[in-house]
Amino acid sequence: MKVKVNQNCIGCGMCIDICPEVFEYNDDGLSRAKSEEVSDSLKDSISEAQEACPVDAIEVE
Ligand code: SF4
Repeated sequence: MKVKVNQNCIGCGMCIDICPEVFEYNDDGLSRAKSEEVSDSLKDSISEAQEACPVDAIEVE
């Protein structure tokens, strides 16, 4: 599966707390996916991060 953080991100850090395997801060203090392609085994954790994101910035394919 593919994960992307779009420009809506406000850097609240929720996704990084919930799923540090996938998300990290970039140099601007916003979130980014460590790698665009991530293991399907992280699906539940990514869904949780997606639901927690206050600005719908996490896109999953
Ligand atoms: S939860 Fe959403 S707004 Fe918060 S850091 Fe993650 S992507 Fe950005």
